[in-house]
Amino acid sequence: NKQIVLRAYVKGSAKQSDMILKTSTIKLKVPEHCNGAVLVKNLYLSCDPYIRTRMSFLQGSYVDSFTLASPIQGYGVGRVVDSSHPNFKKGDLVWGMTAWEEYTLITSTERLFKVQHTDLPLSYYTGLLGMPGATAYFGFYEICSPKQGETVFISAASGAVGQLVGQFAKLSGCYVVGSAGSKDKVDLLKNKFGFDDAFNYKEEPDFNAALKRYFPNGIDIYFDNVGGKMLDAVLLNMRLHGRISACGMISQYDVEELEGVKNLFNIVTKRIRMEGFLVSDYYHLYSKFLDTVLPLVKDGKITYVEDISEGLESAPSALIGLFSGRNIGKQVVVVSRE
Ligand code: NDP
Repeated sequence: NKQIVLRAYVKGSAKQSDMILKTSTIKLKVPEHCNGAVLVKNLYLSCDPYIRTRMSFLQGSYVDSFTLASPIQGYGVGRVVDSSHPNFKKGDLVWGMTAWEEYTLITSTERLFKVQHTDLPLSYYTGLLGMPGATAYFGFYEICSPKQGETVFISAASGAVGQLVGQFAKLSGCYVVGSAGSKDKVDLLKNKFGFDDAFNYKEEPDFNAALKRYFPNGIDIYFDNVGGKMLDAVLLNMRLHGRISACGMISQYDVEELEGVKNLFNIVTKRIRMEGFLVSDYYHLYSKFLDTVLPLVKDGKITYVEDISEGLESAPSALIGLFSGRNIGKQVVVVSRE
């Protein structure tokens, strides 16, 4: 059983060499003492920014640090090879919390969902139809309460979550602008995902000036994926009674010194509602999300771009790539296609 394990806790920028390949032996059978467990062959693994957070030594955080020398844990899609759980049987396709290895014994099935619809690419359950999709859907509709004609700004807009938020916002009749870190991504936002406009933040030293250009009358809704300096500039450009969905702050995950935000007083003066959320707060509504999103995907009203990396061995480099913006769309790692 090939595995990708964490070598040591990381401070500052994570490197590919912080993770190493290890091989262990495993019996392809759920052990007798593991009642209610499921043995899964991993097919697709999901590279998510929060994985970097768990590579640090954490105390009192919303997640636990990974265990050193144990496989990295994360979301994935797999096939059940053996089960002692009444709801899962051999051959079932599942998505949920698994680990970066070929086979994983899942003893807690709280975060394991059966794949019911196989007429779309299975890898979509790491993105569009999985955790990032639900993040975009609930983080936008539940937190932002969008209304037709409102202005929406999305950072890290071409990523797993951002590309969907933009499309939901367009379906809600909003004016949508995204920021991303390259010309190709900006083109994707405008030409593939139907954003009204987009800009490359790496070529805009003054974020405040850029936002003023795209939103001369201000921003009603900000879907924040990056935090830091961009959040600070957005605060200056929010409209009265604006809403900010605090989804993530990727600019702060891979640094030693956290950045301060100076313009928070705008929250008071502009009566802004800024709310954080974790997608896990909404998993009980997952089937509602699927019922809404599946028809939109099948009718071509929502599209999705993935960045596919081949082989378990490529997972460390794919993960590190998220922090320099190497991925274009949802970063997926293929462990096996069958
Ligand atoms: P992405 O697919 O968007 O990948 C990360 C992207 O972030 C990169 O491609 C890069 O794009 C951008 N990025 C990296 N470093 C920086 C930086 N310093 N400043 C600005 N942008 C940067 O990731 P996801 O869509 O999966 O995640 C987006 C956000 O949503 C993250 O903050 C994540 O933690 C959060 N999240 C929150 C959840 C929740 O429950 N609240 C659940 C899932 C995700 P670019 O080239 O544009 O710079």
